[in-house]
Amino acid sequence: MLQDYIRNFAIVAHIDHGKSTLADRLLEKTGTIDKRHMRQQVLDSNPIERERGITIKLAPVRMKYVLPAHLQKILNSPASPAGRQFSILNLIDTPGHVDFSYEVSRSLRACEGIILVVDATQGIQAQTVAHMQLIKEAGLTVIPVINKIDLPGAKIAQVKKAICQAFGFNDKDVIDISAKDGTNIDQVLEAVVARIPPPSGKTSLPLRSLVFSSLYDPHKGVIIYVRIMDGEIDNKKSCQFHASKAIFTPLEVGVFTPQMIKVDKLQAGEVGYVATGLKDLSFARVGDTLTHEDSSCQPLPGYKEPKPMVFLSLFPTDNNEYLHLREALEKLHLSDSSFTFKPHASLALGKGFLCGFLGLLHAEIVKERLEREFSLDIIATTPTVEYTISLTGGETLLIHTPDDFPDPSRIKIILEPVMYAVIYAPREYVGSIMQLCQDKRAELVNLEYVSGQAKFTYLIPLSEMIIDFFDSLKSITSGYASLDYEFFELRPVTAVKLDILLNRKPVEAFSQIVVSQKAVKIGNKMVEKLKTLIPRHQFQIPIQAAVGGKIIARADVKSFRKDVTAKLYGGDQTRKDKLLEAQKKGKKRMRQFGEVNIPQEVFLNIYKS
Ligand code: GDP
Ligand code: MG
Repeated sequence: MLQDYIRNFAIVAHIDHGKSTLADRLLEKTGTIDKRHMRQQVLDSNPIERERGITIKLAPVRMKYVLPAHLQKILNSPASPAGRQFSILNLIDTPGHVDFSYEVSRSLRACEGIILVVDATQGIQAQTVAHMQLIKEAGLTVIPVINKIDLPGAKIAQVKKAICQAFGFNDKDVIDISAKDGTNIDQVLEAVVARIPPPSGKTSLPLRSLVFSSLYDPHKGVIIYVRIMDGEIDNKKSCQFHASKAIFTPLEVGVFTPQMIKVDKLQAGEVGYVATGLKDLSFARVGDTLTHEDSSCQPLPGYKEPKPMVFLSLFPTDNNEYLHLREALEKLHLSDSSFTFKPHASLALGKGFLCGFLGLLHAEIVKERLEREFSLDIIATTPTVEYTISLTGGETLLIHTPDDFPDPSRIKIILEPVMYAVIYAPREYVGSIMQLCQDKRAELVNLEYVSGQAKFTYLIPLSEMIIDFFDSLKSITSGYASLDYEFFELRPVTAVKLDILLNRKPVEAFSQIVVSQKAVKIGNKMVEKLKTLIPRHQFQIPIQAAVGGKIIARADVKSFRKDVTAKLYGGDQTRKDKLLEAQKKGKKRMRQFGEVNIPQEVFLNIYKS
C-alpha cells in the first residue's frame, strides 16, 4: 500500500538551532535538490526570511529516499526503475517564532513524527519546551537530535542528559549531528524511516484533509497545503471547507518537490497542494478541514480562527501615497490573511490604516514587506493590545487605539489580555529577570531549575510584553534568555488615556493608553523625549502630559537664539542650492500643528520605543 512507505515529519527547533540547515542537508542527501542548485536555507523563500534567518511561511517538500539495504526488509516498498527500494518522505519546515505557534501546531497534526533539534552549545530553550508540549499533545514519535557538534563549545553529553531528563528520551536514541558539515545525516534519514510510523488513514473512507498552510497565486487562485487524512482528492469532484463553507472544484492537485508538480490524485497519508481557483485567501484558513461537497464528515479537531493580538496604525510618510498603501495592503493580504486592516485617520498623520497582527514580529514583517515590495515609506504608531471596555450603559467596546478610548466617567471595567509566558535563562540571571518582570506587572507562577537553567513561568500582560520586553530580557541576560508565550486570559486593569499637549494643544498622534500607576513615569519619559526631538521655534513651547485634563508632566523647548538661515549666505552657488533643496525637503516633511512645526522625524523617533 502507498501509505506503508510514506513518512510525514516536521523538524522543530528553538530559533537558530539549525532546523533550516538540517532541512538543506536532507534535501541534498536524498538528491531532491542537487548540490549545484543548493543555497543556504533553501526552504526559506522570502527575502526577509533569508536575511533574518527565520522561517515565516511553512514550506513542505517531498523527498524520495533510496533505502539502504538493511531497511529494505522492514519496509517492503516498491522498487524504483533502478531496482532500489525507496520511501517517500514529506518534510514540513515550520516557522520557529512564537507569533506563528498556531501554524506550527497545525503542521504537527499533518505529521506522524518529529525531528527535534537542540543546539549542542545552547541546550533546551523556551521554544524547545513549548514545542515538546504540542508534540506530546499530538502523540507524535520524536527523533531527538543534537546539532552543531562541530562547534568547540558543544556540550554534547550535558545537553543529551538534559533532554533525556526533561523529555524522557533514551540516551541511545539521541543522534549527534552537524547539520553544517553533514555529520550523521544518514542516521537521521534512517531513523525517519525506521522509527516514525507510516500514516494510518484509509483511502476507502470519505475525504478528510487538514489545511496547514496556503498561498495566493495570480493564475490558480488560493493554493492550499493539505495533508490527506482519509479518502482521496482529484480535480473532478467538488470540495468544501468546513469552517468557511466555501465550495470549489480543484483546478489541480499536486506535490512539492519542492516546486509544485501536478499529480492525478492525492490519497490518504499524502501531503500536497490543491489549487482551488478561489480568489479570496480568507476562505482557506489554517487548521480547517477540507471534505467533498455535502459530506457529513466530522471536522478534524483543533481549528481556531486567526486572532490578531497586536494593533498599530500605519501611515504613509507622504499622504499622497494613501491609495498606494491601500493597494499594497490589499495585495499583501492575498498572501497573508492573518492580519487585519481598516482605514484610520489622524489629525497629525493624515489618512492611514489601523492594522491587527498576530504579534510584533508579524507586524514588523508586514511593514518591511510594504516598504520593500511596494517602495512605501511608512510611519507605524506604538503597538497596542485590544482592550475590552464595558460601559456603564451595558455596552462593550473593543478598543485598539487611544482615539477610541471612551470618556472615563462611562467606563465600568477594562480588561486586557494576559499571557502565559515561559522564560529560560542561566541561573545567574534570576535576580535581574525577576526585577524586570516585576516592572512589567508580571505575576510569578513558578520558578524551577532544569539542568542548570532557571525556568520561570509568569503571567504577563501583553501590553507590557510588546513594548521592549524581549529586548530588555535579552540585554539583561547577555542574550541567553529565551521566551515563549501564549494567550492566557483577559484580566481587569485600570487604564487611562495619556494625552500629550504641545503649546497647550493635544497632539492626538502622541496619545497612548497606559496603566494608571505608570502614567506619570511614561508621561515624563514622553515629554523628555519630545523635548530633544522638537526643533526650537521663535517662541518657547511647553510640552505637557495629561490624564483626563490634569497635567502630570511637563518639559519646555526653549526659543531660538540664532537665525538658522544665516548659514545660507556666502559660499558658492551649488552649495547654496543644495541647502535650499534640503530646506525645501525639510519643509515638505514638516507638519503644521497649531503654530508648532513637528518634523516627520519626530513621529518616527518617538515610536522607536
Ligand atoms: P533555524 O532558525 O533553526 O532554522 O536555524 P538555521 O538552520 O537557520 O541555523 C542557524 C545558524 O546556525 C546558521 O547560521 C547556521 O549556519 C548555523 N548552523 C546550523 N547548523 C549548524 C552546525 O551543525 N554547525 C555549525 N557550526 N553551525 C550551524
Ligand atoms: Mg529557519
